[in-house]
Amino acid sequence: MAYDKSIEAFETAYKVIPGGVDSPVRAFSGVEGTPPFIEKGEGAYLFDIDGNRYIDYVQSWGPLIFGHCDADIETSVMEAVKRGLSFGAPTTVETELAEEIVSMFESIDKVRFVSSGTEAVMSAIRLARGVTGRDNILKFTGCYHGHSDSLLVQAGSGLATFGTPSSPGVPDDLTKHTLLATYNDIASVEKCFEDAKGDIACVIIEPIAGNMGLVPADEVFLEGLRTLCDAHGALLIFDEVMSGFRASLTGAQGISQVKPDMVTLGKVIGAGMPVGAFGASAEIMAYLSPEGPVYQAGTLSGNPVAMAAGLTSLKKLKANPSMYVAFGMKAKKLVDGFQKAAAAVNVPMVTDVRGSMFGFFFSDKPVKNFADACDNDTEMFAKFHKGMLDRGVYLACSSYETGFICAATTDEMIEESIKAAYDVMREITA
Ligand SMILES: *Cc1c(COP(=O)(O)O)cnc(C)c1O
Repeated sequence: MAYDKSIEAFETAYKVIPGGVDSPVRAFSGVEGTPPFIEKGEGAYLFDIDGNRYIDYVQSWGPLIFGHCDADIETSVMEAVKRGLSFGAPTTVETELAEEIVSMFESIDKVRFVSSGTEAVMSAIRLARGVTGRDNILKFTGCYHGHSDSLLVQAGSGLATFGTPSSPGVPDDLTKHTLLATYNDIASVEKCFEDAKGDIACVIIEPIAGNMGLVPADEVFLEGLRTLCDAHGALLIFDEVMSGFRASLTGAQGISQVKPDMVTLGKVIGAGMPVGAFGASAEIMAYLSPEGPVYQAGTLSGNPVAMAAGLTSLKKLKANPSMYVAFGMKAKKLVDGFQKAAAAVNVPMVTDVRGSMFGFFFSDKPVKNFADACDNDTEMFAKFHKGMLDRGVYLACSSYETGFICAATTDEMIEESIKAAYDVMREITA
């Protein structure tokens, strides 16, 4: 494939945008080549400015569960646009979207909308601290919860790709209250609670981690977190910005029996528009301004155009819950195919699937935490990624990211992608 126009566009962008991108993962730093500049999307396909077509398994990093340019979502957005872009005043569409979320998430009575996942998590943490009157929070190495200061500690994907454990510009004073434990290792959590003498406001976790590759939490581990949080009066927050409406219609909570105290959402609930949300019981949410003392606000929060996109998307999902079975089958077929293509040339690969989310590592042992995830063959991944891109298969440009199936992904596309994987594996091991 030719990438001439993208290469030129990247050079031009580089002059006026740091690294040529507005979010680091887009820069292809961990893999070979230049990021294609996108012209348009269509269903499960992506088209770049050189006219190349790709099967898109990134889907804007998760939000586009119906693929690009879904007719229903497009119509609802166009209608909302005609009524006005923003009012800074309440609209009924916010209530409608909130009702949908509340109806599907057992642990949520009330929800507040914001404009990104980062904002959702940042606000949820503030609320958890406000409710408990405690400062310390506990997170897991390799989990990403957005780029706010106190959460930018050992935060997986984008940072893992760059080998930066945390970031300059974040004062130690702001991260000293962020305790770190190991994913799927309850003893490490127990130790944190002991060391902090129980003084922990909340434990925040991606119950299905998607930012160190796809690494789901074990059920017994989540149960252990629930028990520890209850014993010490800490709140359990499930960050489902990625897994919400991706893993199942009710996110991780459709798969696990463990109920969190608070949930953060984003990505799919905006269907490609900037939306985030955090929710909890009415009792916890009552601490939030203007009902309670914990301040949180946003000029564009609950933006009517974004709400319209999210509402249409969630209604479509709710009306057809069997979609998740189809997503899971397609995702499994894809990663099984990748695994066989690798095995055919004696390259080990481990894979996992949760609903429309899929992950694969060039590794020969199960991946349970961030250290395991880091033990993958990143050079092999970089070559695989480049080979697949050249054959029209657009995968996330880092081995620490999750892949996504959308409603427009067909079996034929999956077969084509598997065929490409065989070609690529043969080529890079020849
Ligand atoms: C993407 C993501 C975020 C951050 O959301 P943004 O909209 O990128 O700010 C937070 N938590 C998780 C689990 C995510 O996957």
